[in-house]
Amino acid sequence: MAKIGFIGLGNMGMPMAKNLIKAGHEVKAFDLSAAALDHGVEAGMAPAATVSEAASGVEVVVTMVPEGKHSRAVYLNDDGILAKADAGTLLIDCSTIDVATARDINAAATEAGFEMVDAPVSGGVGGAEAATLTFMVGGTKGAFQKAEKILKPMGGKIFHCGGAGNGEAVKICNNMLLAISMIGTSEAFALGRRLGLDDQVLFDVASTSSGRCWSLDTYCPVPGPVPGSPANRDYQPGFAADMMLKDLRLAKTAAKATEASTPLGALSEALYSELSEKGHGNLDFSGIFKMVNQDI
Ligand code: NAD
Repeated sequence: MAKIGFIGLGNMGMPMAKNLIKAGHEVKAFDLSAAALDHGVEAGMAPAATVSEAASGVEVVVTMVPEGKHSRAVYLNDDGILAKADAGTLLIDCSTIDVATARDINAAATEAGFEMVDAPVSGGVGGAEAATLTFMVGGTKGAFQKAEKILKPMGGKIFHCGGAGNGEAVKICNNMLLAISMIGTSEAFALGRRLGLDDQVLFDVASTSSGRCWSLDTYCPVPGPVPGSPANRDYQPGFAADMMLKDLRLAKTAAKATEASTPLGALSEALYSELSEKGHGNLDFSGIFKMVNQDI
């Protein structure tokens, strides 16, 4: 069992760190929020007063912070992880951040002699609690093999996606595709209704025909055809529209940096921005149907 420093006990980090404890690891935790840290202590974590305290005297550091600027700060500041961790410490950043920042931090870690992976997740808070998260891991094969053992008690599927930053790259490509398919599915139902089609009829045909996709057959954005989908509980998340918007912005940044042509990704970002500006960013991302259908 390992000594692990865990930084970022938010909605995701807290249940993930709890699962590491459940698996028998020793967790020393830090969060800027005193309340989060108190909660962590109640769950059996040792409290650290600073990032540097959480990162020293451990074999592994796991971070789960909101954005690239936070990852940059916790890893690269003068009193950050790279400056304070013991030699040989394995570094795992599970935050969803932009690919360029993930690669910058990994390069700095490598230069300082550390092995590091980016390991963003999908599966949401429910997946973090149930230890069924999917991890998309970028880094060397050796670093991946070490990280896999630590990630196992927190996840279901763990994929090695290639070199540094590739975990983040897979995540934003997947989520851009998901947004596009959800908007496309929503448009099909909006048009179908106006043509006099029953939602169930369109679902029965399209979900067994060439229009089939996950947004339709597993996460249908209209109530009825898939009883477990958020549409049946007034679009309570699930995966919030504002989280999708964050990932679409990361995809847009990456497309610009690499000169990739992603017009549908850009349009999806604009539509989710509009949903958020209308005050509905806390709906599940399938709630985009309400806007596409001109209900809001
Ligand atoms: P959150 O805002 O609930 O938690 C982030 C935590 O990090 C907070 O407790 C904050 O105090 C802490 N933090 C920020 N800067 C810090 C610093 N310098 N030092 C120590 N602690 C610091 O966010 P979350 O929902 O847990 O998401 C974390 C990451 O996981 C994000 O990158 C998010 O995009 C990604 N993610 C979230 C979900 C989800 O459903 N919530 C799903 C998949 C991926």
